[in-house]
Amino acid sequence: MKLLEDRINRDGKVFEGNVLKVDSFLNHQIDVGLIRELGREWKRLFDGENITKILTIEASGIGIACITALEFGVPVVFAKKTKTVNIAADVYTSKVESFTHKTVYDIIVSKEFLSEGDRVLIIDDFLANGKALEGLISLCEAAGARVAGIGIAVEKAYQGGGDLIRGKGYRVESLARVSSMTVGGGIEFAD
Ligand code: 5GP
Repeated sequence: MKLLEDRINRDGKVFEGNVLKVDSFLNHQIDVGLIRELGREWKRLFDGENITKILTIEASGIGIACITALEFGVPVVFAKKTKTVNIAADVYTSKVESFTHKTVYDIIVSKEFLSEGDRVLIIDDFLANGKALEGLISLCEAAGARVAGIGIAVEKAYQGGGDLIRGKGYRVESLARVSSMTVGGGIEFAD
């Protein structure tokens, strides 16, 4: 999506450790108008999938998911990150290895909010190695819900997460696919 690629080129900053910061419009300050365009694009792409719920992961996925949910007219459920050792019986749980913090944490969703019969659209800000998505998919599997699609704002296509998740048969629609980026240099996009 050219609108997002242009914005990343203009305002994105590449840091050591393979991190692209988009804090001025996506991850800290949020350009709501831009996110609305992302939401409209996912609505166009996943129209006809009969989405019943949008699932994301706290914290930075929530804003994007909520604006997208307005287009679909469905609720947002966000997986919570927790360090609690004793996981309650009334939640689905999965483990995720954090890309940014290099730690493993549990994510949970209440059984009340994800069920068999749900057709879930997973939304997240970034796709790198695919660990966050694997965790979210496994919560859906535990609930018996169907993952009808996955919408990602920025995929770092060279990191392999996209190939991994698509290889499992999921439809991943990333609105900007970074093919290479260098600190102090440019950011290139794949098709
Ligand atoms: P993955 O689980 O696919 O390895 O990483 C995805 C998660 O890590 C996203 O939810 C996002 O929060 C974070 N992440 C991965 N790469 C980047 C990056 O380059 N920039 C930012 N801001 N977050 C990232």
